[in-house]
Amino acid sequence: MKIHFDTIPDEGLPVSGRLAPSVFDLTPDDAIKPAHDAHYDVTLYKFSETIRIEGTLKGGFDLQCGLCLKYLPYEANFPRWNSEYEFDEGESGFDLHEVLREDFLMALPQAPQCEELGQSNCPKRALLTSIQEKAELEDVDDSPEPDERWDALDGLK
Ligand SMILES: [Zn+2]
Repeated sequence: MKIHFDTIPDEGLPVSGRLAPSVFDLTPDDAIKPAHDAHYDVTLYKFSETIRIEGTLKGGFDLQCGLCLKYLPYEANFPRWNSEYEFDEGESGFDLHEVLREDFLMALPQAPQCEELGQSNCPKRALLTSIQEKAELEDVDDSPEPDERWDALDGLK
């Protein structure tokens, strides 16, 4: 969605709308899947070389747990979101949806795990924890026996 800089008044330009899942341009096996249209309600302000964008972003996504690879629903809600688009002299406008898309992807949890996605137990984490605990127990078993030769010397005193 192209916004021409000329259309942004000094007091700011309110813009709201939706980003269809296809806007995110992700492959089906990506760790992020837009579940439905995302919403934005923002105001654009123009400065000498920058467009400042302030407002709210909301969207439903299915995010993949980095451990067990299960997809879990995540409601993204950024109520005080802001961003900037820097432009060169020759530019007359910019693609708002492109900026919003990038910011959404940046703001979502990166490589989240079940717990961050509201799931109490990641099946893979339980497995990892039990392996770890087992390794720690084995470490204890491997610790060297206390050296008893000094005890024998003590006995000679
Ligand atoms: Zn998981």
